[in-house]
Amino acid sequence: MQPNPETLASRDARVVWHPYTQMLTRPAPLPIVRGEGVYLYTDDGRRFLDGFSSWWVTIHGHAHPRLNAALAAQAQQLEHVVFAGCTHAPAVELAERLVAALPPGLSRVFYSDNGSTAVEVAMKLACQYWRNRGEPRRRRFVTLHHAYHGDTVGAMSASEDSLFTQPFAPMLFDVSRAVAPYCYRCPLGRERPTCGIACLGEAAPAEHGTLGALLAQQGGLIAGVMVEPMLQGAGGMIVWPAEFLAGVRRLCDQHGVLMIADEVLTGFGRTGRMFACEHAAVTPDIICLSKGITGGYLPLGATVVTEPVFAAFLSEDRSKTFFHGHSFTANPLACAVAVESLRMFADSQVMEKVADLEGWLMRGLAPLRALPLVGDVRVIGGVGIVELVSDRATKSAGGYLDDVGPRLTQLFQQRGLLLRPLGNVLYVMPPYVITEAETAWMIEQVHDVLSTFG
Ligand code: PLP
Repeated sequence: MQPNPETLASRDARVVWHPYTQMLTRPAPLPIVRGEGVYLYTDDGRRFLDGFSSWWVTIHGHAHPRLNAALAAQAQQLEHVVFAGCTHAPAVELAERLVAALPPGLSRVFYSDNGSTAVEVAMKLACQYWRNRGEPRRRRFVTLHHAYHGDTVGAMSASEDSLFTQPFAPMLFDVSRAVAPYCYRCPLGRERPTCGIACLGEAAPAEHGTLGALLAQQGGLIAGVMVEPMLQGAGGMIVWPAEFLAGVRRLCDQHGVLMIADEVLTGFGRTGRMFACEHAAVTPDIICLSKGITGGYLPLGATVVTEPVFAAFLSEDRSKTFFHGHSFTANPLACAVAVESLRMFADSQVMEKVADLEGWLMRGLAPLRALPLVGDVRVIGGVGIVELVSDRATKSAGGYLDDVGPRLTQLFQQRGLLLRPLGNVLYVMPPYVITEAETAWMIEQVHDVLSTFG
């Protein structure tokens, strides 16, 4: 047989369309053939440290022997079965383990197959919950500025207006947007820790654009408030004071609206707690999970609700049924790997690893504050964030269109480090199995590139 003279990259260039990529000007994608631990390997033998967990999904490392074995064992038994009218052990065991691990009160698991669908399910459930309870006027959502909830139509509607959503504006529905606790760029011009979390608008609901103000004005029309607790991801890696999260729960209770926590990014340890809601000891009415749920192996979504939310759908009346389901709902392979991943949390000191990583990131990234282009450094759990500015006094910086992100991506790639900055917001979010020496190496690359960047 003649060897194929073509590379993977050149074959890719002819037939594949990549996400979030301008296909005319893109650099060639990395032809990855193998993963192990925190590393990815190309077909020509290069090695890259996966500094952002392959879009925030990988937690125990690539090609982990225990997850591989769980997947292989399940594949021998049952690869897939319809989940309307059938059930299977991996789905039931996963639901039991999720309910045990989640903040108390979340008790019913609805499966889907990715983060965006977990969010769509949450929004549809919230909307129908009020209809089923005879309050159909409550169908509007409040979300936050800088939010990112996914790429399907409901999730895009809930997300901040941005370059990503503009082409689809005619398809999107209206939501109310409240200000977010972006302390480095406080929307009210206050300073921590003396601000009293004024951006919540709890004490002064007249404060323009705050959650308190919006709920005071529109409370009777609101189905739910949806937030990314503690860490707003794609909208700029914004780390919250936990007091804001506690206040969201209080305001939702005061106004009798559902609180939806989108923990697609933050779930499964990423912020240093198993779920970010634990930072403020709150239980949302609905929580959205995906990404790390399978340790980053396979697509799976879960939307988990409290018993009162579930109860609103229990009826002889068929119109109260939740008519939503995807072909791959509760795929057994994905569920089996997710169960094994949760077992690893129980027996492999996973949260201790995240705590160590948080310490290494805090100590390692702090000196970067001295660099002229660094405006802010923030760390939460296994996520380290460096916000770049062109002028520290005015905090001015380019947005996603600015080419700083792609330029940095290329510079890190040349050094064997995979990162994908969000415009001027550079962050590291490695798999939890990264060692102290590997973390130090990663931070050294960040330091060296930023020291000479201009
Ligand atoms: N919600 C949040 C908070 C996310 O960060 C993401 C993805 O980054 C999503 C939802 C969408 O998840 P998916 O990409 O699996 O559709």
